Amino acid sequence: MAICKTEAIVLKAHNFSESSKVVTLYTKKYGKCAVVAKGVRRPKSSMCGTLEPATHAAIVFYMKEGREVHTLSQSDIITTFRMLQGDLERFSYASAVCELVDRLTPLEAENRALFALTLKTLGELERAQPDEFLVLLWFFELRMLAFLGFKPELDMCTHCKGIPDKTVVGFSLPKGGVLCSPCAVKDDEAYALSQKSLDFLRHLQRVRTENATKLIPPQGATSEIDNLLHAFLKYHTDEFRDIKSLRVLHMLRSQCSPSQEDFEKS
Ligand SMILES: [Zn+2]
Repeated sequence: MAICKTEAIVLKAHNFSESSKVVTLYTKKYGKCAVVAKGVRRPKSSMCGTLEPATHAAIVFYMKEGREVHTLSQSDIITTFRMLQGDLERFSYASAVCELVDRLTPLEAENRALFALTLKTLGELERAQPDEFLVLLWFFELRMLAFLGFKPELDMCTHCKGIPDKTVVGFSLPKGGVLCSPCAVKDDEAYALSQKSLDFLRHLQRVRTENATKLIPPQGATSEIDNLLHAFLKYHTDEFRDIKSLRVLHMLRSQCSPSQEDFEKS
């Protein structure tokens, strides 16, 4: 049994017994880990309140080889994102970030770049204005895809390897990137992608985290970009399926009030 000390972001937690919780963490040194936090539901527990989703904590746990769930022995908060906890819309975006990391990463595979990205994105969500949340989520999705080996090709035609000119372009989900106009015409399954959306996605793929919120999506392109990114995530990652927090966000955007059931499920 090894004693492991690392930083972690709480992805999700559920009650396990009267006094314990099973918590999924994204750790800096070990990637995604599941731990049982014994006694944490008792008010006197030193870990009480440190395992809420989207909390950044310093943790110690005992790792037993061959087990999928390890034992948490200590957890101390490093960063509480207070704004995330007190604002439903902001928290829904933070939940989407945590759920994407949970669903798309394997257990115990270190990815420090993804850890840093997740932490920085939560920090930016804490500070962002509501009209910047969606761009931050897109930024996170694009960068995470790149870190997991699914970076969409946005510069070169994925069929003929030519550089698309400034006319109509397409996007191929199976090929994982853009198509020039002659290749897009020949591909029945190509997604239509306007030049303005493509230019925006290229900027978003290259920008630093702290500058992502300065990018403003081109007028009338929000649905096109949102739908394309989700179709791409769904196509390339079996685990994407219907991520519940993203469904809640779609409802918030269309100004319907989400049902209590959706929150309970997520
Ligand atoms: Zn082509």
